[in-house]
This record gives sequence, C-alpha cells and structure tokens, in this order.
Amino acid sequence: MENCIFCKIVAGEIPSPRWYEDDKMIVIRDIEPKAKLHYLCIPKQHFALLSEMDEARAEIVKHLFQTIPTLEKTLGLEGGYRVIINQGEDGGQTVPHLHIHLLGGEKLGEF
Ligand code: 5GP
Ligand code: ZN
Repeated sequence: MENCIFCKIVAGEIPSPRWYEDDKMIVIRDIEPKAKLHYLCIPKQHFALLSEMDEARAEIVKHLFQTIPTLEKTLGLEGGYRVIINQGEDGGQTVPHLHIHLLGGEKLGEF
C-alpha cells in the first residue's frame, strides 16, 4: 500500500528494529511510547479496520492474538500488559494499517 508508514516499515524502507518477526507479522517499539514498554504488533498484509475482515484476514488476526502471549517473556511483559486496537477517527487511529498496541513494563493507570 503506497504511502502507508507501516507497509514501509514492513518492507524495510523505514528502518525499525524488529522484536519479533514471522511470515505474517512484525513487532516493533512505538516511536512515541505511552508506557514504559510500548510495542506495536503489525500484520505484514495491509488492511486498516476490523470491519474489513474476511476469512484470510481473520486468520491473520487470530495469528497475532495467538502469537502475542508467546512473546510475553521476550518483550518483558510477564507482569501483565494492556492490549489496544484503535479503530477509525473516533477511536484515535492515526495509522490506517491495523495494529495491536501492547503497553506494559509498569503498573498502568486505570483505563
Ligand atoms: P494508532 O494511533 O493508529 O492506534 O497508533 C499508531 C502508532 O504508531 C502511534 O502510537 C505512533 O506513535 C506510532 N508510530 C507512528 N509512526 C511510527 C514510526 O514511524 N515508527 C514507529 N515505531 N511507530 C510509529
Ligand atoms: Zn499498510
């Protein structure tokens, strides 16, 4: 997807250290962390919204959620973490490429 910052990161056009990578997803640190540890789990395939889900994309989202718990130790999130997916304008989504925020590394305040 042209001009999508996360597609550029996935393609390696914008360098960003990868804390995890497989054939379907990458995990990077958020450039403006909202907690001591703030990761972004980004599917390699571009789509913006959960409402654009089809069977293939559902498999990708399932893979993301199955993989996240296996990374808790690697990412330093053993103490717990918060999972956020912002959707659309009212949800505060600024990058229109689906991604899962993982926030942790400290005791988070009330949501
Ligand atoms: P959203 O607001 O769409 O849910 O989340 C987008 C997130 O991407 C924001 O937290 C923002 O800080 C992060 N972000 C935007 N551009 C970059 C970038 O170039 N590199 C990284 N690592 N994070 C980015
Ligand atoms: Zn994209």
